[in-house]
Amino acid sequence: GHEEEVGEEYLFKIVLVGDSAVGKSNLLSRFARNEFDTNSKATIGVEFQTQVVEIDGKEVKAQIWDTAGQERFRAVTSAYYRGAVGALIVYDISRRTTFDSVKRWLDELSTHCDTTMGRMLVGNKCDLENIREVSVEEGKSLAEAEGLFFMETSALDATNVQTAFEIVIREIYNNIS
Ligand code: GDP
Ligand code: MG
Repeated sequence: GHEEEVGEEYLFKIVLVGDSAVGKSNLLSRFARNEFDTNSKATIGVEFQTQVVEIDGKEVKAQIWDTAGQERFRAVTSAYYRGAVGALIVYDISRRTTFDSVKRWLDELSTHCDTTMGRMLVGNKCDLENIREVSVEEGKSLAEAEGLFFMETSALDATNVQTAFEIVIREIYNNIS
């Protein structure tokens, strides 16, 4: 079993994947602490943060894992993925190369995780409309083709960050209950 049930409580491991500098660490700090870091270096040492969400009156603990920047070296280890029941696959709407990498991250997920995991494609930095390189439609249609939820977010101005995580958490919850 991937998800752990503790009495009436649930613990879901969710991983963040995507190219370097797409905003993974800032999505997590926005979600968990409502903070944004304009000059974020790789968050060394912090493996995951736990956030409690209430769904249908049940306490759900989302344990969200962030890379420590290993993605730069294509060296995200299998330990990172182990037991994950949800994933946010993040790209940067202002850098097309990060969108082109999404397929590779999906392959990586399907190698390491159960296909029934809750997955959301996240186009981050939607505040950068003036230098957008990937349209909303492109994001949507890739998500549809791959069977993923889709949302554009901004960790900078907090657009859809809470919602994106909560949709994934709810999907996992629905899958097991
Ligand atoms: P990671 O390598 O994927 O963890 O990316 P980071 O969270 O470290 O962010 C990389 C850079 O993008 C940092 O300079 C952030 O300040 C910036 N950044 C992250 N999210 C956003 C966003 O939503 N909008 C804008 N404009 N910049 C962002
Ligand atoms: Mg990071």
